[in-house]
Amino acid sequence: MPCVALTFDDGPGAHTSRLLDILADHDVKATFYTVGRQIEQRPGVIRKMAAAGHQIGNHSYDHPQLTAVSADAARRQIATTDALLRAQGVTPSTVRPPYGSYNTSVLQVLGSLGHGAVNWNVDPRDWQDKDTPTVVQRVTSAARPGAILLMHDVHSTSVDAVPQIITTLKARGYHFVTVDQITGGVAPGSAVHSGMHP
Ligand SMILES: [Zn+2]
Repeated sequence: MPCVALTFDDGPGAHTSRLLDILADHDVKATFYTVGRQIEQRPGVIRKMAAAGHQIGNHSYDHPQLTAVSADAARRQIATTDALLRAQGVTPSTVRPPYGSYNTSVLQVLGSLGHGAVNWNVDPRDWQDKDTPTVVQRVTSAARPGAILLMHDVHSTSVDAVPQIITTLKARGYHFVTVDQITGGVAPGSAVHSGMHP
């Protein structure tokens, strides 16, 4: 059965709770790369996410380019957000580095904290073109077995695109899975951009 993984970055935001309801309606599990300062604003949404069985990952504390800060600063960015998630009862799984930027030094830091990096291979640029039909078209035309789809749940136009993305891809036989499921798990200190188990 062909699989894809929906991933949502930069939240939890104002539209995340609504997105969780949409995913529940469609019985779809996704992966959320959450930002520490957003978790502080909406810890209840993290608990709702976890209770629904979604995978929750770490997208840093306040979204710097990790390749542009010191290794110590990068470590604090990740460790702080890990602690914020654990405080909500969540075991964070994997890191999406802001802007997808990593190098060997960043991977070393992630590895020492028990994390691997997860990027994507389908990017509809939903943060740039805040237009629901455009986002639906870009995601559904680029999806392939094993794809990791990048979206941002902080934009209502992106959340609005999710029902049609799910129905279109399900009609093509796709199954929606988490990043851990589609990759089979990411070894600490390594990086992946797509699923190994399409
Ligand atoms: Zn981001």
